[in-house]
Amino acid sequence: MRVSDWYGLPAGSPLRFVVLSVLLLSGGIISGCSRPQPATEAAPAVVQETPGRVEAPTAQTTEAPKRIILFIGDGMGVGAITAATYAKGEPLHMLGMPHVGFNTTHEHEFVVADSAASATALATGHKTHFEAVSVKPGTLKSQEEDSANHLETIVQTAHAAGWRTGLVATSRINHATPAAFAAHRSNRNDYEDIAHDMSLSQIDVMLGAGSKFFEKRSDGRDLFAAMGERGYTVARSAEDVQLARKQKARKLVGLMHDSDMPSAQSGERAMSLSQMTTTAIELLDNDNSEGFFLMVEGSQIDWFGHDLDGVGVVAETLDMDEAVGAALAYARTRDDTLVVVTADHETGGMSVLDPEYMSRYLLVLGGQGAAEKSVALASHPDAKSRPSPSPAQHITLGSLNVGESTREGAMGAQFAFGPQELKDRRLTTDFGYLSVASRPHWQQAGAFSASHTAVMVPVFAQGPAAASVASVIDNADLGARLIELVQWHGRADRQPIEAGIVGGVERPQNVIVLIGDGLGLSSLTAALYVRGHLEMLAMPVKGLVATHGTDRVVNDSAATATALATGRRTRSGVVGMAPIDGELRSVETVLERAGARGLRTGLVTTTTLTHATPASFYAHHPDRKAEKAIAEFYMDMPQRISGYGGIDVAIAGGSEIFGEKRLAQLRERGVHVALEWSGEPLATDAPTLHLLAAGGLPAAAQRHGVQASVPSLARMTDAAITSLSARQQGFFLMVEGGQIDWALHGLNRGQELIDEIVDFDEAVAAALEFARKDGNTLVIVTSDHDHTISVLDNHYIFSEGHCGAAKQCGGHYEMAVLPVATSKLHRNEGLNDLKLQGDFGPPGLLLQYSWAVLAANERVRMAGPHAANFVPLFAYGPWAARFGGFHDQPDVGKLLMEWASSAP
Ligand SMILES: [Zn+2]
Ligand SMILES: [Zn+2]
Repeated sequence: MRVSDWYGLPAGSPLRFVVLSVLLLSGGIISGCSRPQPATEAAPAVVQETPGRVEAPTAQTTEAPKRIILFIGDGMGVGAITAATYAKGEPLHMLGMPHVGFNTTHEHEFVVADSAASATALATGHKTHFEAVSVKPGTLKSQEEDSANHLETIVQTAHAAGWRTGLVATSRINHATPAAFAAHRSNRNDYEDIAHDMSLSQIDVMLGAGSKFFEKRSDGRDLFAAMGERGYTVARSAEDVQLARKQKARKLVGLMHDSDMPSAQSGERAMSLSQMTTTAIELLDNDNSEGFFLMVEGSQIDWFGHDLDGVGVVAETLDMDEAVGAALAYARTRDDTLVVVTADHETGGMSVLDPEYMSRYLLVLGGQGAAEKSVALASHPDAKSRPSPSPAQHITLGSLNVGESTREGAMGAQFAFGPQELKDRRLTTDFGYLSVASRPHWQQAGAFSASHTAVMVPVFAQGPAAASVASVIDNADLGARLIELVQWHGRADRQPIEAGIVGGVERPQNVIVLIGDGLGLSSLTAALYVRGHLEMLAMPVKGLVATHGTDRVVNDSAATATALATGRRTRSGVVGMAPIDGELRSVETVLERAGARGLRTGLVTTTTLTHATPASFYAHHPDRKAEKAIAEFYMDMPQRISGYGGIDVAIAGGSEIFGEKRLAQLRERGVHVALEWSGEPLATDAPTLHLLAAGGLPAAAQRHGVQASVPSLARMTDAAITSLSARQQGFFLMVEGGQIDWALHGLNRGQELIDEIVDFDEAVAAALEFARKDGNTLVIVTSDHDHTISVLDNHYIFSEGHCGAAKQCGGHYEMAVLPVATSKLHRNEGLNDLKLQGDFGPPGLLLQYSWAVLAANERVRMAGPHAANFVPLFAYGPWAARFGGFHDQPDVGKLLMEWASSAP
């Protein structure tokens, strides 16, 4: 099959890339708004946010890159990236890259991949079987030398195009990930065979470790000698490598440790990953007018993930990010260099927690020592006498940006923690579970080994065609696209790669913000596999958002919604207020500003209208729990905000909080108040308030189907949009999938959680359907914060080698298996391959939470905690491109405020 077939293009048709141009900041400033603000007792004077700057679009066309540098952080999930960012105290280099995407990482036959299969996807554009190295799925050992069974790698494509190539890793160079770029073997563990393939691969520069596989082999061959005869400089030390660098060696193999490199923390690496990367770039760049492809692996992030060692994960992630920084510095000097940073899979289900949460669970477990024992017992009967991983690891928050912060280059994030409030806090990293520990690992090493997970991994891209690279949603598609880019220059029918701005640059008339409360990349991944498709993932612009508050790294829904609604960071529990000059003051919200500017406004939620998230858009109170006081802010909006009649459409639960008296007052004022859903179109002549339950609405399952008396979130969203758009004056609508968070707090591991996410995604679909027709509507989908859930699969858990604490293996935890919607998945080449799946097909997911939470819950019923992992963002429509890449949550709010301020 030709690569282009996968994109629905006829073979041989000109490649068409839709590329976002980089938006440059210009100096234009929108004048501040000056509406009068009558202060009432209930509402302290609202502080106005300074409008942001306007970005001027620059359209451009480009050719495909002539240098591609691909970084693979082995096992580097969003938890690792988040932890490393807070440990550094400022956004990582990779977070400054303008384009972000998310990729599924499943292999040919199973959902959770190993590094060989996922590296094969990246290296060849094809899925393969568990532990296979760039051979077709199902290839047997006896068939692996037949080139008909080989998958062509990007390195081979690059050589055919006259490009030079390089591989850099901190593991042995013949380890799974680099191996997939230069060998064809049915199993990753055949290290000597792989080294043999690599010695013949004609790769120009190989730097890392693993010399013994080349010169102390069981077959007695000396591959280094043979490579030397073929023109390679062979280096065994950093000095050798430096010399080769000075001599501008055309071909260099520099393996500076016998087996693998020591860890980054040990300080014993012959060369750092950054030094090796710089060296490889310099040698490949030298006298090279054609092009080069370089793969750099941060190999050991995964190893510390297996060990549940968060400190090690952070150290290795920071180490790789230094190398990313070096590559970006090189790329800045040219206009033909594409840098891509991604991971092969997530390892360990790592979540970022904080001491407050952890201490609660450790207390229940009887302190650190008792917790360790509890973990051992929970994991496996054999584990009693084995060393346990630390139940909680602390990482000191980076001190660089405590207090004031500076904007890093073009980076869209400021890490302005509160006034010294975070100074003494320590970040706690924790792993999603340790209920999965591999049995052989216990037996051989007497240690735990956490599992890989299926959680989607981020992709960061910068340079020519970066947007097209970040737009794919599967790692094999990413590999295929990189191969297309290498081939581009050699194609007779090539066309300039269009650079356009997705959705236009004119100010959108309408904005719909959809917030999935508690929806992180993990739960989103689970819903994707169970459902087969998520509308939000098809949105063209993607981003990651940091969600910390002024007082805590792990934040709550009030502070995070306030950041989105006002552009201000605040303390947890606070609604629509922020610390300003040492005092908690009310700050104007995007909904209030939109209303004051004559736009129509709406709120839709599955929780109560006075719950933290919707409340943050119209109320100003230091305590989110004071829902009756918050209701007063809804009541007095017409008095508080001149020229605004209050929220035009609100559909939610919470009639009990409002109470008979308030509802009667509203009716007197002419507000259409309804406590039941009639299904009729909403009135547009006066504000509408639908409170469809005393408290929160029923769960998603009860809001679907013809019998349902309370509508789905999609129907509520649709009704609100129909009403708000009836008059052509522009509108702001916030829609919350509020009960995703509730299912996660309840540690739900089954369909209930998936149902809430799907219900939310249907609302996203309704918003997008309107936006596509309307053409003048910006749709933003994001989350307020994450939880500690992670996604496993039945193969990894139940296979002989990896069974752990699941009931099915004699352990403690009931783990339901959710079926995967294989036939609906965008990339389903082998997930229904029952032959290769053997006892483990068809594929199923298992959802699991942080082990400490689960162990504590066996003694006392406790709600599952939030986590600080960066959350995804999706955007569609005019201005969408401005929301792409990495953002600090208040910056997202500032952009929304800027939109409301610029209403005509
Ligand atoms: Zn691994
Ligand atoms: Zn919550």
